Amino acid sequence: MKILSVNAGSSSLKFSMYEMPEEKVITTGVFERIGLEGSNYTFKINDEKHKKEMPVSNHEEAVKILVEELINYNIIKSVNEIEGVGHRTVHGADKYSDSIVINDKVLNDIKSFIPLAPLHNPANITGIESFSHILPNVKMVAVFDTAYHQTMDKVHYLYPVPYEWYEDYAVRKYGFHGTSHKYINGRIMEILNNKELKVIVCHIGNGASISASIGGKCIDTSMGFTPLPGVMMGTRTGDIDPSIIPYIMNTTGMTIDQVMDTLNKKSGLLGVSGISSDSRDICQGIIDGNERCKIAQEMFVNRIVNYISMYNTELNTADVICFTAGIGENGIEVREQIMNKLGALNITLDKEANNIRGKERIISTSDSKIQCYIVPTDEELMIARDTYNLAK
Ligand code: ADP
Repeated sequence: MKILSVNAGSSSLKFSMYEMPEEKVITTGVFERIGLEGSNYTFKINDEKHKKEMPVSNHEEAVKILVEELINYNIIKSVNEIEGVGHRTVHGADKYSDSIVINDKVLNDIKSFIPLAPLHNPANITGIESFSHILPNVKMVAVFDTAYHQTMDKVHYLYPVPYEWYEDYAVRKYGFHGTSHKYINGRIMEILNNKELKVIVCHIGNGASISASIGGKCIDTSMGFTPLPGVMMGTRTGDIDPSIIPYIMNTTGMTIDQVMDTLNKKSGLLGVSGISSDSRDICQGIIDGNERCKIAQEMFVNRIVNYISMYNTELNTADVICFTAGIGENGIEVREQIMNKLGALNITLDKEANNIRGKERIISTSDSKIQCYIVPTDEELMIARDTYNLAK
């Protein structure tokens, strides 16, 4: 059974096709610069990349080309072979704690959540509608970034603001990257053959979030009402004092949109270092003696360590800490610096084991009180699994 796993951005469309239930990746690819100058798309088949540049004016056209190319490349003989399309959907609010087959009601709900995720849900909806038009007989499934965190209780998801803000305006913590946090919890419970594990997941990529879970149920997570708070990120601030916002507006004359744009896109590693949001550039900057890169890196590490320590207390001592996503999987120096600051939790880094990128393995010594692992994430596979289970 062939399943497509899809992630639609405002001008991009990433896809992976799986043979299920074998979980075999048949092809992956991406359409870039949709509706812009220089649009192009890439198919990866048997480790070989095929790139074409041609005008792609909207997502629906991209989907049409995608289906035609699947046939041209002999991946499928007809569209009837596609039995489900899973859509990464950023916001499911407090209504969806699991993936769901999309019907008119679900689509309207996702539309109604746009005020909660104005940057993401509209693009996800465009993806859903485009696939629905081109493949009207195929089941569409929404897989929500917020769903995994729906097990948090009020103590963890409420903000200490007037209660009416929660009741009347849905102001609460939702959490994001849920598909990844769920995947990593499932995988580590499988590796250690223990369904009750207390796990801290550090999903550290360009966006970053930490979660605390028991037996695959989320207790708390660092992102909040939006993906802006929590740990410091590539371009996002993480936690800051909200009073900075009116202060900067009043002092500089910036508008609220300009300030929010700065907090989302020009802060974090980029804002402090002044040179890059990319962890590799920051590490190189430190080697080159750039003082601001050094400060940015120390802040980045420190804030992750603070969340790990907080969640370790919350879990009354975690069993495992997992590192995942771009930096978590590949950032040897960053992992080392984080773990070297966790001595108070009786964690010791196995420096040799840590000297690796992108491989699943334990990186703490055998006498560490909490085991630390690298576990590469696979959000596309999670989307394909949920879609297969709902479409079969
Ligand atoms: P997102 O999905 O949030 O855009 P990723 O999970 O792709 O981000 O992570 C991007 C980050 O991963 C960047 O900061 C980049 O420096 C880091 N990264 C990717 N590959 C490596 C590597 N080989 N070594 C160190 N860091 C890496």
